[in-house]
Amino acid sequence: MQNTVKQLQARLPAITFVDGTRFYWSPKAQSIYMNSAALGTDEGKWALLHEAAHAQQNHLTYTSDQELLSLEVEAWHEAQKLGSDLGITIDSDHIQDCLDSYRDWLYARSTCPDCTLNGLQIKPDTYQCLNCRRLWQVSSSRFCRPYRMQLKDKKTPSEVAHTVFN
Ligand SMILES: [Zn+2]
Ligand SMILES: [Zn+2]
Repeated sequence: MQNTVKQLQARLPAITFVDGTRFYWSPKAQSIYMNSAALGTDEGKWALLHEAAHAQQNHLTYTSDQELLSLEVEAWHEAQKLGSDLGITIDSDHIQDCLDSYRDWLYARSTCPDCTLNGLQIKPDTYQCLNCRRLWQVSSSRFCRPYRMQLKDKKTPSEVAHTVFN
């Protein structure tokens, strides 16, 4: 097992570390999924620390996109503390890039498909435009959207963000 994983496992004995293709925290499975092949890179180690911070804070659910964003900010803050205990410094530009990609994604979700004004989140999966009254549904949000540099082949923000009611 990779050294950083071992150190984190010792700090979080109740959490299962699972090898996979992406980094994310599953509160339901109390598991951290990680891409072991990426752990040799700085970005991979930072991603692992970030997920460990979610696990340590036991981030469970959130009822709005804004709440999710604030949990992401908190997770990066805690990841920096964890990292300094383990001798790993997380680049603050990287953190800002990750949070910016979240903000972009949340902004796209909240944009009215008809008149492009910003809507109000009336339920976890539903927004309403206060201007034209249009309702639209969004996929349930989750921790850890892909980072910006992995979004090269992304669809238009509208395709990603909207499951439109017909
Ligand atoms: Zn509208
Ligand atoms: Zn996260």
